[in-house]
Amino acid sequence: MNDLYTELGIQREAAEEVFSAERDLSQAFERIDAIEGANQLKVLCAMQSEGIALRHFAPTTGYGYDDIGRDTLDRVYAKAFGCEDALVRPGISGGTHALYLTLSGLLLPGDELLCVSGKPYDTLQQAIGISGNAYGSLKQFNVKYSQVELTEDGKPDIKAIRQALNKHTRIAYLQRSRGYAWRNALTLEDIQNVANTVKEYDKRIIVVVDNCYGEFTQLKEPVQCGADIIVGSLIKNPGGGLAPTGAYIAGSAECISMIEGRLTAPGTGREVGSYAASYAPFYQGFFLAPHVVAQSIKSAMLFARVFERAGMDTMPKSTDYRSDIIQAVRFGDAESLIAFIQSIQKASPVDCMAIPQPWDMPGYTHQVIMAAGTFVQGASIELSADAPIREPYTAYIQGALTYAHGRIGAMVALSELNKYKRG
Ligand SMILES: *Cc1c(COP(=O)(O)O)cnc(C)c1O
Repeated sequence: MNDLYTELGIQREAAEEVFSAERDLSQAFERIDAIEGANQLKVLCAMQSEGIALRHFAPTTGYGYDDIGRDTLDRVYAKAFGCEDALVRPGISGGTHALYLTLSGLLLPGDELLCVSGKPYDTLQQAIGISGNAYGSLKQFNVKYSQVELTEDGKPDIKAIRQALNKHTRIAYLQRSRGYAWRNALTLEDIQNVANTVKEYDKRIIVVVDNCYGEFTQLKEPVQCGADIIVGSLIKNPGGGLAPTGAYIAGSAECISMIEGRLTAPGTGREVGSYAASYAPFYQGFFLAPHVVAQSIKSAMLFARVFERAGMDTMPKSTDYRSDIIQAVRFGDAESLIAFIQSIQKASPVDCMAIPQPWDMPGYTHQVIMAAGTFVQGASIELSADAPIREPYTAYIQGALTYAHGRIGAMVALSELNKYKRG
């Protein structure tokens, strides 16, 4: 045992500290187990009610007419998420693509998109036209954009939202997860409050939630709390670590029918779209997702606890309510931030020998450093960490297919930081 720890670069004192931090969390872990149990029930019921069988895993080619694996996967997602309908596609390349599809499917020239949770995720800013001048952005299609900041304590500003709503508002948009911001994820109650405010003003305004990183972290999904549409990536929570690519859009049948025109072509919609590999990893990954999300959350709590005990600032605190799987930690200077991200790479099952460096990433406005020693490229449901290189040098840690791996990651990180501090 001791030899294996040494082989991974783990110091004895770091290992002991992490085990000790873990003991602080046993009660909080019971709450996570209860959420996992409830979500596993939902997913199992959805699969049984659709009578999932081997034939649903079969690949298809060409147009993919009557692709039973594709169409049934849509219904499984819809049922488990409490939605009328869903589009789940390997061919939607990720969350950004799915969100852009959703917005461009629902918005027409002259409509206004109102973002009520501050600036949306970095990669969406060019797609909407908030930054840059990308050809074909929503702005170029004469979609207006406006934004309401969150309050100082990270809550939707209901009063300001009420004032911002107007006769052109077509979508009220929320990002559930913190993304790369020092704030907590929006709670289901926050989402319900926004939806109530918006619907009180005009029932026809569509409430869209960027649900990336939020799936299965709580007992409900945002559509069960007043939202019309939720969107997320399959290489995050709902793919369970097995989905090799893809994204989903789920919500009201009416909205989905508008969005499916953009997915392929207006008039053709969801009837086409094949997948030449097996659908099995999408089903199996969704089945595993409640468990993998729970493993990720426990890992995030452990990282928080370890760094709290080291006197560092964390968001959320180790035992706080969680509505996404991300753990933010402030390092205060670029050097220790970079050392931390590199330690997560070092603790990975894939590409452990790579040393991540800050880089200009497409769609991001600052240099970003990422540790992603993952089986699926960029999959952040696997243990990974990223950080934009900007003050106050915050790392965002997420994922872990198994809690045991998350714990090893914390041990390696702590060992590296100890070494670093001592010079
Ligand atoms: C990851 C993420 C996105 C973008 O998804 P990609 O799959 O990286 O394109 C959007 N919003 C949030 C909150 C995310 O976490």
